[in-house]
Amino acid sequence: MTLRLFGAGGAFSRNLGTTCSMITLRSGKRWLIDCGRQAPDQLHDAGYTWHDIEGQLITHVHGDHVFGLEDFAFLRFFESHNGVQSTRQGGPCPKLVAHSAVLAELWETMAPSLRYLRDEQGNQLTGTLSTYFDVLEAKTYEPPRKNWWRHSEKFACEGMEVVARESEHVPGKPSCSLEIGLYDDPKDNRIAWWSGDCTVDRDFLVANEPRTSVFFHDCTFVDYPGQVHGFFDLLSALPERVRRKVVLMHHEDDIEENRERVEAAGFRVAMPGHIYNLESGQREA
Ligand SMILES: [Zn+2]
Ligand SMILES: [Zn+2]
Repeated sequence: MTLRLFGAGGAFSRNLGTTCSMITLRSGKRWLIDCGRQAPDQLHDAGYTWHDIEGQLITHVHGDHVFGLEDFAFLRFFESHNGVQSTRQGGPCPKLVAHSAVLAELWETMAPSLRYLRDEQGNQLTGTLSTYFDVLEAKTYEPPRKNWWRHSEKFACEGMEVVARESEHVPGKPSCSLEIGLYDDPKDNRIAWWSGDCTVDRDFLVANEPRTSVFFHDCTFVDYPGQVHGFFDLLSALPERVRRKVVLMHHEDDIEENRERVEAAGFRVAMPGHIYNLESGQREA
């Protein structure tokens, strides 16, 4: 099971590309984590089309994470490619997995584009997310804790279990980190972890380190009141056994100026095109 980063930059990076990564399961099926505004071009440049993608995971609704999704929805709906029929002609819908609170915001942002449709006879249709995607429902969930939405939701994605868990990004905003189950065996709870965008939750990272092969964490070197990302000083205060498993991503364009101290602290630095083996947590390419 591998994860390939298409973009490794944050919202305002001009050099490293917005967030979109591809998980390849043992079955060969491909899922994306987030679909930022540059995702359509990133996929194309890497030699993939939307028709190569089985499903899409979404952490939260910010442009650098979801603004590529309209392209995904429309191209799969209208175009057939490589033996995969268009959704409009009865082809398979790509699967979509997001926490229900995120899903509601996703529709708010996409409705003006996706609501208006015509069928092959030219009749007007009203599109919903389910017109374009097979929206999976959570099979279990934990009740709300801090915010009004469920603390976590667990999804079965054919060969991959994913927990979308409430995380602290912009206060009050539905946003999740992802626990990606590495094995089908329900007794084996080992995961790879993806922060989405969030502040450093030291207790969670320390408690979950033993079962986690790799933590992908967003990172910033600038602190400010109301911090919304993983501030480097807090990340570097994590125990070494955690730091050794952390790959920093969602960079600002100052990452190279900071690389030396980042690597000295035991962190790895994700770059566009890097591929990680999720079981070992090690970089493959
Ligand atoms: Zn972001
Ligand atoms: Zn964000």
